Amino acid sequence: MLSPDDLIVAPHDCYGGTYRLFDSRAKKGAFKVEFVDQTDSNALDVALEKKPKLVWIETPSNPLLRVVDIAEISKKAHAVGAKVGVDNTFLSPVLQQPLTLGADFVVHSTTKFINGHSDTVGGVVVAKDAELADELKWWGNCIGATGNAFDSYMTLRGLRTLSARMRQHEENSAAVLEYLKTEALVKVIYHPALPDHPGHDIAKKQQSGFGGMLSFELKGNEEELKLFLGSLKLFSLAESLGGVESLVTHPGSMTHRAMSDEAQAEAGIAATLLRLSIGLEDHTDLVADLKYAFDKVRESQQ
Ligand SMILES: *Cc1c(COP(=O)(O)O)cnc(C)c1O
Repeated sequence: MLSPDDLIVAPHDCYGGTYRLFDSRAKKGAFKVEFVDQTDSNALDVALEKKPKLVWIETPSNPLLRVVDIAEISKKAHAVGAKVGVDNTFLSPVLQQPLTLGADFVVHSTTKFINGHSDTVGGVVVAKDAELADELKWWGNCIGATGNAFDSYMTLRGLRTLSARMRQHEENSAAVLEYLKTEALVKVIYHPALPDHPGHDIAKKQQSGFGGMLSFELKGNEEELKLFLGSLKLFSLAESLGGVESLVTHPGSMTHRAMSDEAQAEAGIAATLLRLSIGLEDHTDLVADLKYAFDKVRESQQ
């Protein structure tokens, strides 16, 4: 829907694949893109003065779970004639509904919570306006970027348990969060449920839950990080998220590898940052697994 002179204003800490897509297409001249820290309203205002055609929002963001106010940004974006798209992958429609908050488009990676079983790859774009939805549908058919029948069947099947799964993802995440708060080898936790998280109040206002994702920095060096990851038995080291099984990701070398070291530093992605996708296992097992891995690191330090 964009032309070569059109500008996208996107978050500086967006999902690595989104960064790669926007950056690569912009380098080919498809459109212009500017990455800004959308939690900094001054920086956002400066970018909006350039009259973007699209403001892209990702909240909570990946991997640091930064939260921005969808209603407020939508109002500002609409005032300069921009459309607003929200990547709602982290919460799913169960926990956040951007169209009712003022957005024009919502994108979900259905690979994640919506299908929920880590056995399909897909996505969905939802437009508030029927005419824009038709335009997207036309392009989907023209390009062929549409789901196949079997993946669609699987995704619809997953969708039926979405709300029950989200409840359990949340309950398990809350238990893991409680444990991490007490763990001496955790340097910092990034989770909007924490009252000192800068996005806590906005999250409480616009989300109906805190979801199943959390990130933290390990207090340690690269060797200790490797030992920690190698000692986990229930958490698999893998990309992706939102499935029944718990996963751990090292954003610096995995999901966000396409970013330069400078771009990673600017986005706040530290060398020992780990992201957890909390699955549907018994949460006492999940906590025990993490504790075992932390204990291994502790032993190595003695
Ligand atoms: C995984 C992810 C995507 C991309 O989804 P794929 O289905 O893997 O292409 C987009 N946005 C966010 C926030 C994601 O986590």
